[in-house]
Amino acid sequence: MPTTTNPTTAQLRCIEDHCRATFAITERLYTCPNCQGLLDVAYEFDKPLADEWKALFKARRTSDAEVDRSGVWRFRELLPFVNDTANIVTLNEGNTPIYTAPRSAEYAALDHLRFKHQGMNPTGSFKDNGMTTGLTQAKILGAKAVACASTGNTSASMAAYAARAGMRGVVFIPARQIAYGKLSQSLEYGSLVVEIEGNFDDAMKLVRDLAEETELYLLNSINPFRLEGQKAIAIEMLEQLHWLAPDWLVVPGGNLGNSSAIGKGLFEMRELGLIDRLPRLAVIQAEGASPLYEFMQSDDKTIFHPFAHPATLATAIKIGKPVSWKKALRALAWTNGVVERVSEQEIADAKAMIGRDGIGCEPASATTLAGIKKLVAAGVIKSDANIVAVLTGNVMKDPTYSIHYHTDQLTFNEADAEQIIKGNFANKGVRVAADKQAIRRLLEL
Ligand SMILES: *Cc1c(COP(=O)(O)O)cnc(C)c1O
Ligand SMILES: [Zn+2]
Repeated sequence: MPTTTNPTTAQLRCIEDHCRATFAITERLYTCPNCQGLLDVAYEFDKPLADEWKALFKARRTSDAEVDRSGVWRFRELLPFVNDTANIVTLNEGNTPIYTAPRSAEYAALDHLRFKHQGMNPTGSFKDNGMTTGLTQAKILGAKAVACASTGNTSASMAAYAARAGMRGVVFIPARQIAYGKLSQSLEYGSLVVEIEGNFDDAMKLVRDLAEETELYLLNSINPFRLEGQKAIAIEMLEQLHWLAPDWLVVPGGNLGNSSAIGKGLFEMRELGLIDRLPRLAVIQAEGASPLYEFMQSDDKTIFHPFAHPATLATAIKIGKPVSWKKALRALAWTNGVVERVSEQEIADAKAMIGRDGIGCEPASATTLAGIKKLVAAGVIKSDANIVAVLTGNVMKDPTYSIHYHTDQLTFNEADAEQIIKGNFANKGVRVAADKQAIRRLLEL
């Protein structure tokens, strides 16, 4: 099987137009030392050989080599920052299915709708796509310990990949705000879990400072190597669609790393001639944590206003100060994208509908269907459009939420008010005596 043997041309490059400074990828940088701007991993790609690459990517699916079986590294010509594939830390991530979803489509008044289910990753979220690249770069740099702030899935994923790499993992989470499915994973995979009395944004600030001052290697999505792996969500999706871009690609927006990564991946694929047009990106936020939505609505495009007290039951996107907002804006500009926001009730009902397609997802993922429904109603998305929405996390990540919804006990505490979320599509269980006749009457059999 042919592999990339060329020495890498990868550099770190500041995304700010007025700066564009470049740095060696062997430097341990998270932001530009000159202007604090975000950094890209930038390449001078091999001569574009679009058809040969497509054939190579496909052929690797029948290879037995670990790196070929990964749904990230199978596409390594598009993220060529690794000289020696022996450094790759992988759990066979990616390789996630695209499902048709007729009931969800009908719910949103669409002819058809498809979901790319990133919840089918090894630790149950798309974070694995970014952690395989993040931990690989950590290994290349000789890091001994890795760290992240997390609303749950980043820590679950980092803990697994740190264990694979034999590195110490330290995760910082907001105390009492993590879904049990996610917390239990970090414990199981052996990272040190540090609970912070504060929210995600507080934890993020602390770990960023610690990464500057100590040997901890930071693996939040401000780390540009994370986003290189997350690009593969878009690459793999396009391969599954025979390299024909859909009209719309819809993702939830929290810290905005995923929107940024997918935007970069799409842009590069078009530059390289793998696709000839870009889908429009739609980023969906929860109302209580929607700073990007508010920014897009406001006339003043010079200031980005964070949410000091982000609030949503979709904990994976409960983020008030998204680090990647500038990269997300760039992705929106490249793709003529839009941003929508949805209520807690809309998220909960959309999640139940996705379940009825036999698919299931965690609350943050369901913002996609809720947002699509709103965008169709507003005439932004046409009912016959070709749409793929990314389901970011697995249904088993947050079982408490599902059980509360289906038993009419889901409540949302915002500041001092308590909002009751109605179980509009609740599937209430029933209790019956251990008696065959009673059960037959109940089931009308
Ligand atoms: C991390 C995460 C998100 C948010 O992604 P960002 O890249 O932070 O915008 C959404 N859904 C799930 C399930 C996640 O784990
Ligand atoms: Zn700069």
